[in-house]
This record gives sequence, structure tokens and C-alpha cells, in this order.
Amino acid sequence: MRAVDAISNFGRNISFVPRRSYRPCGEEEVLRILETHRDGTVRVLGAGHSWNPGIESSDALVDLRHLRHMRVDGDRKRVTVGAGCRIGALLKHLSKRGLTLPSIGLIDRQTVAGAVATGTHGSGRHSMSHYVESMRIACYDADGRAEVRTVDSGRALRAARCSVGAMGVVLELTLPCVPQYYVRERCVWRPDLEAVLEGEAGSPLQQFYLMPHAWTWLVHERSVAGENRRTGGAAIYRVYWLAGIDLLLHLCVKFSASLMRSRRLVHLLYRRLLPAFLFPRWRVTDRSDRQLTMRHELFRHLEMELFVPREQLGAALDTVKAVLGAADDVGHIEPVHVRERIEGIGMASEFGRVRGSYTHHYPICVRRVRPDDTLLSMSSCSGMPERDWYAISLITLSEPREPFERVARFLAEALAEFLEVRLHWGKWFPLEATHMERSYSALSEFRRICEAFDPKGVFRNRFLRHAVLGAQERIRAWTCT
Ligand SMILES: Cc1cc2nc3c(=O)[nH]c(=O)nc-3n(C[C@H](O)[C@H](O)[C@H](O)COP(=O)(O)OP(=O)(O)OC[C@H]3O[C@@H](n4cnc5c(N)ncnc54)[C@H](O)[C@@H]3O)c2cc1C
Repeated sequence: MRAVDAISNFGRNISFVPRRSYRPCGEEEVLRILETHRDGTVRVLGAGHSWNPGIESSDALVDLRHLRHMRVDGDRKRVTVGAGCRIGALLKHLSKRGLTLPSIGLIDRQTVAGAVATGTHGSGRHSMSHYVESMRIACYDADGRAEVRTVDSGRALRAARCSVGAMGVVLELTLPCVPQYYVRERCVWRPDLEAVLEGEAGSPLQQFYLMPHAWTWLVHERSVAGENRRTGGAAIYRVYWLAGIDLLLHLCVKFSASLMRSRRLVHLLYRRLLPAFLFPRWRVTDRSDRQLTMRHELFRHLEMELFVPREQLGAALDTVKAVLGAADDVGHIEPVHVRERIEGIGMASEFGRVRGSYTHHYPICVRRVRPDDTLLSMSSCSGMPERDWYAISLITLSEPREPFERVARFLAEALAEFLEVRLHWGKWFPLEATHMERSYSALSEFRRICEAFDPKGVFRNRFLRHAVLGAQERIRAWTCT
């Protein structure tokens, strides 16, 4: 047990002081913690890179930084890794052996278990959760005694693959590894969404950006290279990307949106400056983990990510564009079909309050996530047709964040009324469990499985009750009275 410090997350929007804080060195120690807190609350802290209160605990907080072992199997097909191991350390370990992971996100600072717990994803592949082959989880038996279970098959594995920590303390997990590969990429402008999506066939790993206020489409075309060889300019490209995008673009956004609070400067940035600094058609090939990640963690921001199935992407982006346009300019005239949709769901007055309240200042990144074999990750296809989901990311770098939060909440609530919307389990999360019940057909099954791992609800905190286990909590309260 350690002296208790205040804990805050990467985005600095969550902070709390747990009653007890632990950094156990092994499974036995974790079991003792669970025994001690069997009548309280236990949550796990990964790298604290989530924007919702998933890590929050008023009682015990467990930090698994000492559980960071890595074991590649003899056949080099899978790796077993301690829950607290950072993705970057694992990628380095694998790369030395000519291997890598089948899927990663934009940064590598998260812990492996934290990333898996929330369905962390990149573009053009499944989320990391989909690939998990087995897990060791410290949880409770039916009599409330702490035990470690290995989960490696069936519905329990599908639930555990993305469980937001609701099934217990993940101690170790096994993921497949694939031979290291190289990625070819270039940036190109496209005239519209149809043209962007047509490009997927040739660039299956692509992600794209809708530029605010210019409303132009920039595609990061990406595909697996035919051979594992870096092109000549790859090192220069990385320096350019670090200096030009990770640093300079972010400084410009901070300056225009946060310091000067100037709509005109934000408009100028996206309509004139940024296009001049991008070099379309500069094609570069480099190692997958270098090419697919960036230094996105250099500036503290707040992010919400909405997921919609492919056939609803156009409608979702139309609405995002119209709402951000109206938020920026009180006199903005939105397309009739969007206005009618908003009126149709009875949110016209909320829309009125959003008008003129906030200038969005960050590219809207869109990534394709393949259907996951999980119960709860954002592209889960459990009980639903197998289809790709698209993640639409909304980021703010400015503070105070309330104007962004008001607009983002409006968008999430409005889209959830007429589309199948899911929210990233690791990002800012303004919707309630009732919304999630509509979009995850396996949610009640997930809740039953959680009961079998945690009969007394020790792993539940405010966020889990609010966003995931809401109805279950209501049933529990009702049966107790
Ligand atoms: C700069 C930045 C870039 C990002 N880029 C991407 C991206 O490209 N794609 C994407 O999908 N997401 C992205 N994210 C989101 C991030 O991947 C997730 O929020 C992820 O969960 C963070 O991992 P973490 O180790 O920090 O976990 P934490 O935030 O510490 O924890 C996340 C949740 O998992 C639970 N948890 C953690 N470890 C365990 C365990 N061992 N057992 C049980 N429960 C556990 C926690 O209690 C919490 O509920 C990004 C976040 C940031 C800050």
C-alpha cells in the first residue's frame, strides 16, 4: 500500500483521491487487495489516457506497472504480456524479433490492458480487443472470495476482450503477433466522401480528415508495402511530421483558438495555411509502428469519438458538419434535411442554444474499424450484421472546455436519436447506459457475465453504473427493496 496522492488523467479532466492506492508485484498481492476490499470498490489505473472516469475509485486503486513481463511463444505466433506493460515497450520487444501486433492505435503510451479494456483501435483493422486470445483475471467467486480465472474461450472471452474493467483486474493477456510489416502512405485531397471511400479498396489502412470551416477532405492513404524496406525520405518525412503537424499545427491551433480566441484565425488556418504546409503525393514507406503512430500526446486535449456503421457515415458527417457550422456562426444555414431531422427528434431548442457558442478548431479524423468478435467494443458485431464501423473523432485543444462539451454532447445525443451511435469507452462519454442499450444488442448478456465475475459489484464505479451497467443497477436496487 502506498501513500495516497491525488490522481489525474492525461486530459486533466478527471481527478480524485482514492482511499488506498496499491502497486502490487504479483497475482498473490492482487488477490490480497481484492480480499481486503471485498465490500468496497476496486478500480485499476493503466496509463490514465482515458477521458472518462473509468479509473475513478473512492476506495482502492490498483496500478499494475510492475506487471510488465513479455513472453513470445516458441512458434512466434503469440505474445503473453503483463497487464501494466506499455504498448510502446511491447512493440519494441516484438520488433527486435521481427514481429509486431496486428492492430495498434495512434499512440503507444497506453498499457496493453488499458488499451484492450476500452477497444482501442487504429484504421482499417479490428480493434486491439478483437485479437485477445486469453486473459488472466482476478475477480470474485459466487461466495465473494477472490480468485484468479483464466478466460480463453466462449462468451466470457468475448465479454472480457473489452470490459472497461467491469469483470475484474486483468493481470495478463495473450495476443497474436504477426511478422513485422511496412506501410506505404501519402496524403491526398479528395473532393467528397464518396471519393474518399472509393479509395479504401487500394488503401485499406487509410484514415481521413474533414477539415473544419474549409470542409475539405484530406486522406492519409495507407497500405501494407510489398517489401519491408524504408524509402529514402522516410526519416525526413518523420521529422517533417513531428515538426510540422505534431508541433507546429498544434501550436497554431493553440494560438488561434485558445490564446487569441479568434474565429478568423481558425478559418485562415484551415482554409489557407494548412493546405500550403501539406505535401500531397509525397509517398513514404516505413516500419508499421513508426508509420501508424504519431506524437499525439504532446498537447493535452479532450476527445470524444462517435462510432456509426458504414451505411450511416454520410448522414453522421452531414450532421457533424451542419452542427459545427451553426456552432461557429449563429447565422449559418444548415441543409434542410439536417434541420428537419433535428426538429423531428424534438431537439430544435437545444440546437438553438448551441448556435454561435463554439468554433471547432481541430481536424475531424475518421477511421474505419472492422467488425469485432467481442460483446462490447465499439465495432462489436455480436447479435448484429457484420459490418465496418467508422470512428469520428472530435477534439478540442482550448480551455475552458464547456463550449466544446455542450456541442459534443448535443451531437452525441442528437445522432443517438436517429442513428446507431456508440461512443469510445476510453474517451469523453456524455451518453447514458439507456443509449447504449439501444446500440449494443449483447449488453444484457455482458451484464450477466459481469455478475458471475463480480457478484457484489466491487468493480463498479460511477462511470460503469452511468454508462454500462445502468439497468442492472436499477434491477439490483429494485430487488433489494
Ligand atoms: C493522446 C491519446 C491518443 C489516443 N489515441 C487513441 C487511438 O488512436 N485509438 C483509440 O482507440 N484510442 C486512443 N486513445 C484512447 C486510449 O487508447 C484509451 O483511453 C486507453 O484505454 C488508454 O489506456 P490506459 O492504459 O491509459 O488506460 P486507463 O485510461 O488508465 O484505463 C482505461 C480503463 O481500463 C481499465 N483498466 C486499465 N487497466 C486494467 C486492468 N489491468 N484490468 C482491468 N481494468 C483495467 C481502467 O480502470 C479504465 O476503466 C488515445 C488517448 C490519448 C490520451
